[in-house]
Amino acid sequence: MKQTRKIYLDNAATTPVHAEVVKVMQACLADIFGNPSSIHSFGREAKEVMEKARDSVASLLGSRNEEIVFTSGGTESDNSAIKGVAFANKDKGNHIITSTVEHHAVIETCRFLETQGFKITYLPVDGSGLVDPGSVKKAVTDKTVLISIMHANNEIGTIEPVEEIGRIAREKGIYFHTDAVQTAGHIPINLKELPVDLLSVSAHKLYGPKGIGALYIRKGVKMAAFIHGGEQERNRRAGTENIPGIAGFGKAAEIAKKEMQTEMKRQAALRDKMISGILKKIEKTRLNGHPTRRLPNNVSMSIEYVEGESILLNLDLAGIAASSGSACSSGSLEPSHVLLAAGIPPEVARCSIRFTLGRYTTDGEIEQVLQILPGIIMKLRKMSPLFKDSH
Ligand SMILES: *Cc1c(COP(=O)(O)O)cnc(C)c1O
Repeated sequence: MKQTRKIYLDNAATTPVHAEVVKVMQACLADIFGNPSSIHSFGREAKEVMEKARDSVASLLGSRNEEIVFTSGGTESDNSAIKGVAFANKDKGNHIITSTVEHHAVIETCRFLETQGFKITYLPVDGSGLVDPGSVKKAVTDKTVLISIMHANNEIGTIEPVEEIGRIAREKGIYFHTDAVQTAGHIPINLKELPVDLLSVSAHKLYGPKGIGALYIRKGVKMAAFIHGGEQERNRRAGTENIPGIAGFGKAAEIAKKEMQTEMKRQAALRDKMISGILKKIEKTRLNGHPTRRLPNNVSMSIEYVEGESILLNLDLAGIAASSGSACSSGSLEPSHVLLAAGIPPEVARCSIRFTLGRYTTDGEIEQVLQILPGIIMKLRKMSPLFKDSH
């Protein structure tokens, strides 16, 4: 086979770091070594870099600068939001509402809280992965202290009705957290209008570096510190800040804001081309997730009679990187909890594959995948006794 450039279609797992972000981080590592808590000029310089980055992240989300706390990423933001609110509001109640399609960072945090005396409601979703706001309303009790529903799903791309859920939370006086790791920098978020109290973001999902993220905490939210120690991050997260990471995150947020409208349209067009191409060229395939309320970069498909893992390996040999289920559950042969929650039978869920496009994805790359994929599927199906029986 002719050696071609590799094609990366796993941007929901992580994104390449933008060249301008690399430049900012290199300069920062080389020259800005001061501790932002120091009062001398070296410290002030580092602090200035940090606050400028905080402004960029706040501006991307439509929040105030002082409502952004830097963390080590999406997982820490989710953990801190949920545990922080749960522990600080124990006197009010011990009930939390979430969904069955959340990222493991939310689900496992809730499972941990169950061992600490909290009661968790895991709401089911419909066939397209949507949480019904009506079911959120019904699940509320006088002990509910927090609702945590993700903004968009990382596996099937479904965008959840967070505005409606947030309004319900607000009406009932309950805090609302949303995991916006897949949406921040990709689709508009305006915290001036969105009724959300806590929101998680991760830099490496928006062309920034790994190991840095943010938690938006609306002013007035009562929550416990996530890491105890010094007074950094307004006493919420102790420890000397990751200045190069923060500077890179700020740059990535700035670029994401600038490019969002054009990238949304461009990627959605490529997404639709890819979905219709796969549906047309390969029989017995279906789209996972919602047909219209979906991330502009998400193509999640069930391709019956072929294991997702086998498709992945064959694509990888052809230089194409995709994913089956989420990065965390691939490697295990358990079907994804998200696909199962959306009512997809386990035998079909195992046949799922996710392509997630990004700012570097080209039309030519999508064409190439549409050329290569049908042959891979045909080859694999030839080896499937079940497929033969179906014909
Ligand atoms: C990637 C991801 C996370 C975890 O973020 P990290 O920065 O990798 O810890 C959390 N939630 C969702 C929806 C994600 O896609």
